[in-house]
Amino acid sequence: MSKIKTAFFCSNCGYESTKWLGKCPSCNQWNTFIEEVLDKGNNKADSNDWKNYTPNPRKSKTIALSHVSSIEEERLVTADAELNRVLGSGIVPGSIVLVAGEPGIGKSTLFLQSALQMPQVVTLYISGEESEQQIKMRADRLGIQNENFYLLTEASTQVIFQEIKKLKPQLVVVDSVQTLHSNFIESSPGSISQIRECAAEFQRFAKETNTPVFLIGHITKDGNIAGPKILEHMVDTVLQFEGDRNYTYRILRTLKNRFGSTAELGIYEMISSGMRPVSNPSEILITHKEDQLSGGAIAATMEGLRPLLIEVQALVTPSVYGTPQRTVSGFDLRRLQLLLAVLEKRGGFQFGLKDVFLNIAGGLKVEDPSTDLAVICALLSSYEDVPVSQHICFAGEVGLNGEIRAVNRVEQRIAEAEKLGFEKIVVSRYNKKGWDSAKGFNIEVVPLGKVEEVYQMLF
Ligand SMILES: [Zn+2]
Repeated sequence: MSKIKTAFFCSNCGYESTKWLGKCPSCNQWNTFIEEVLDKGNNKADSNDWKNYTPNPRKSKTIALSHVSSIEEERLVTADAELNRVLGSGIVPGSIVLVAGEPGIGKSTLFLQSALQMPQVVTLYISGEESEQQIKMRADRLGIQNENFYLLTEASTQVIFQEIKKLKPQLVVVDSVQTLHSNFIESSPGSISQIRECAAEFQRFAKETNTPVFLIGHITKDGNIAGPKILEHMVDTVLQFEGDRNYTYRILRTLKNRFGSTAELGIYEMISSGMRPVSNPSEILITHKEDQLSGGAIAATMEGLRPLLIEVQALVTPSVYGTPQRTVSGFDLRRLQLLLAVLEKRGGFQFGLKDVFLNIAGGLKVEDPSTDLAVICALLSSYEDVPVSQHICFAGEVGLNGEIRAVNRVEQRIAEAEKLGFEKIVVSRYNKKGWDSAKGFNIEVVPLGKVEEVYQMLF
């Protein structure tokens, strides 16, 4: 009888321990440790796995930095400009990219589509979730033909690597990393030790053969599926695919990138024939209404390095119940409460007796603090039931004393607003340097210092 080997893993960060621990020493979470079987002590070594496959074993030796060639490796440029952008102008050979996102928002569609759009590249698409027929149907819907696209519905990494050896693909997509299973580990697919081992096997494969690998991984809102988080340090690039499944817009965000900036972002619209890259997002995110309604204001935000104009919608109604409700979608609830407190204190508005609903149009989530000013304007507009002109947009952070604070890259925001035909943009007075240099623009830049001044200007 061989001994069964087990270990305890933190389900939050993947920290490994020989004993059960109440609190994770790595991420400080409580009650996250679970036991997993690592090895039953049999079935080893004979399996034909990537561990035994080394086509060109790397000869490690020290080398003077000056002798290292600095020629940048040629990247694989995809047909999708948004994907190229988030990867840092294309796929780096031998890189391993983790794509994380909630189930059902379109990760598979996006990467199936991107792979199909590269007929010059031999691609292997490994699916542990969908059958060949399901993927075929999906590809038919996308309407793209590709003779170099190969499909493998398999979960065992040993079988997968045998197929890879035969096919020698130039690009591998794994959908999803949670379905993979390695014979070296006894625990079930989707467990922490399995995910780590399988990802490590693909990492070795990517580095040794210089083949790029995309690993698709599911996350849930409550984060109770073990997964992508524990792989973040193992991979070269982490992309997060975000969006509300009730809306058509999706954002592909770079969280980590060894080969490029992490401030990048790609925007897609989900249409019946797949994911359509949106090269000019502001035009779509703002709804041009015929008649003006109260409660809406346009914010000139930045998402990464891209200026993005978005619509903030507020609804302020008398509170029926004892405790007023605050409901947000796409905006931070605590931030809204803070802004309401500022309006109550500085402007004497009785928000304590009102229910407040705040929504960022298009299902986007914004983190840029420059949205504050547009939120304040939308709230006041609904409170007073007076519409804000659709030709004005706002870019300013609001401080606790009601002061409008400067924001970064104000010139870019002004330029974007002008491009979209806005007549006025309200910015912070403290952004003087920025709007001084923007004097050549046709748009009127209105520098204001306090929330009260905005109120006087609008109402
Ligand atoms: Zn932990």
